[in-house]
Amino acid sequence: DSDRHLLLSRIRDVPDWPEPGVVFKDITPLLRDPAAFRTVTELLAGIGGEQVDVVVGIEARGFILGAPVAHRLGAGFVPIRKQGKLPWETSTASYQLEYGEATIEVHRDAFTPGERVLIVDDVLATGGTVRATVDLVRGSGADVVGVGVLMELGFLNGRDKLADVRVEALLTL
Ligand code: 5GP
Repeated sequence: DSDRHLLLSRIRDVPDWPEPGVVFKDITPLLRDPAAFRTVTELLAGIGGEQVDVVVGIEARGFILGAPVAHRLGAGFVPIRKQGKLPWETSTASYQLEYGEATIEVHRDAFTPGERVLIVDDVLATGGTVRATVDLVRGSGADVVGVGVLMELGFLNGRDKLADVRVEALLTL
């Protein structure tokens, strides 16, 4: 539909970035366009459903999208960050990258057991980042009501790692 075309037209393919062979989906043109930015925020907020207590945004583009979604839903916002960035006590989760490992962290007091959490990020690729985020949130006793991403790279099969959670993508490539 027309929303889809608007969003697609504002995502730029950058070949061979950050490394040869990768085509990076650059969302900065979308953020720059007021109508496209608002549309994404509204559609991602709609994924949350009736009640969301907390929106979790994954560093760094998940902060940009997640914060306005939280504001729109009347929810709080929790940042999930790469290792070593959060100032207080953290819980951590590690996962495999194509080469090596990555670790993400969240503050230990970020959630109250039973809270309803919507996870937001820009791109679902191999799914490792969202998988680790779901595990961190659940490990704290909160409930993941869904994962909302702007774009899913379907050919990377990230959903295979996420069979136990509702994942909604505004665009699937
Ligand atoms: P995954 O763990 O699913 O392989 O990678 C997802 C993470 O990497 C997300 O946090 C996302 O921001 C980033 N990412 C991977 N590929 C792309 C891409 O092509 N474009 C953008 N904007 N982010 C990407």
